[in-house]
Amino acid sequence: MERRRFLLTLAPALIAPAQAAHAWAAKVPRVSAVPGGVARIGLGSYERAPLARLGDKRVLVMREADQWVAIVGVALAAKPGSKLRVQAERAGGYERFEIAVARKAYASQHLKVSPDQVDLSTEDLARHERERVHLERVLRTFSDSPPATLAMVQPAAGQRLSTFGRRRYFNDQPRNPHGGMDIAAPAGTPVVAANAGRVIDVGDYFFLGRTVVLDHGQGLLSLYSHLTAADTAVAESVSAGTPLGKVGATGRATGPHLHFSVYLNAVAVDPALFLRD
Ligand SMILES: [Zn+2]
Repeated sequence: MERRRFLLTLAPALIAPAQAAHAWAAKVPRVSAVPGGVARIGLGSYERAPLARLGDKRVLVMREADQWVAIVGVALAAKPGSKLRVQAERAGGYERFEIAVARKAYASQHLKVSPDQVDLSTEDLARHERERVHLERVLRTFSDSPPATLAMVQPAAGQRLSTFGRRRYFNDQPRNPHGGMDIAAPAGTPVVAANAGRVIDVGDYFFLGRTVVLDHGQGLLSLYSHLTAADTAVAESVSAGTPLGKVGATGRATGPHLHFSVYLNAVAVDPALFLRD
């Protein structure tokens, strides 16, 4: 035990400068079991990866040193004080784990607007409903090969705005909380893949505008919206840094910016948890 502690103390000093640059990557995602956060569960050492589920959703499982860990996305809608139950299936049986959801306060914004600005026309409502069903299906994508890393690169140069989780009230009517990070950048700024993966959706949606969705494996997805154009196609493989398109203001955007979302087990989690500070 003493010897182990000694080695752990020495470890940071032993990291070569080239590796030090990547040391931050081993610390992501920063975990905290709050709505919109990420929880981590040690599943133990087995030869084959356990299969973990949260309700009917598969959960990301990857190897970390000599054990398997589950990286679980906590929905923005999760109630503080409630418990999420994760079931892991492995050789010889099942094991159940609980995640206690802690509180996190996100900003809220109350806006008074004329009703015709928030109520969609019948056609727009029908279009939005079709797109919502399509996107929900896309965001449930789960492919078996795990991501090589959970660390992400910022997909566009620009200021990160703390808009994740913000809830807007239009005339005191609550809207869904904002499920992404907005990055302020001029129109035409290149947008690149935040992590290696495969393009699983390219579309032009009522709210999100031109959008690209990437599958990084095991339910880790990323989404890029309001693009002027998408320079990629479904089924293309990308590396971190591969160009996907350019910043724009398509869809319902008040001005040019990138809307960047990250999903785990089909729920939006804070992209900042995966980025270098
Ligand atoms: Zn946004």
